[in-house]
Amino acid sequence: MNKQEQLVALHQKWFTQNKCELKAVATQPVPGDGSAHADIVFIGEAPGKKEDELGKPFVGAAGKFLAQMLAEIKLKREDVYITNIVKYRPPNNRDPLPQEKEACAPWLYEELNLIAPKVIVFLGRHAMNNFFPELKISDAHGKLIHKKFEHITTEYFLPLYHPASALYNGGLRETLLKDFKRIPKILEKIGKEKS
Ligand code: URA
Repeated sequence: MNKQEQLVALHQKWFTQNKCELKAVATQPVPGDGSAHADIVFIGEAPGKKEDELGKPFVGAAGKFLAQMLAEIKLKREDVYITNIVKYRPPNNRDPLPQEKEACAPWLYEELNLIAPKVIVFLGRHAMNNFFPELKISDAHGKLIHKKFEHITTEYFLPLYHPASALYNGGLRETLLKDFKRIPKILEKIGKEKS
């Protein structure tokens, strides 16, 4: 099996093994999507209505904005990998509960470790706080963090504002775009440090 096929198999396994209670109310699981060879993995919070309908992450308004930002740095969705902390839509898009995050965590860690990207980009405070509970997105956005965790191989993390919260807020939108445009330089820096 090549790496992309391994990723498909990993999702298939979790479709049956995952014990998240949201399974009972969501239309379908929304696994991560994109390249198993990606240098960058983006992590959001949980699927919304459109994602639940289509079974793919970030395909609604926030996803369109994400695709536009990727285009700004000459990347396509297919070049990166996009996933969520929680793989099922919470009813009425409420925040996922701690036990829902916990139930989906081994699935997330397994996909992250298979892909082993150079950098993990958090889309919003929920994704960031899952790894760095003490940080505030208003301070941490746009700043690269280096940290070794026991359960994941990637050591670099970049928190960004969530595209959905920046979509209709001019100030946040500009900040997010500015932070996003730092990604190519960040990848270059990590590449140099690792070689
Ligand atoms: N917001 C998220 O956090 N994830 C999605 O997949 C879509 C919107």
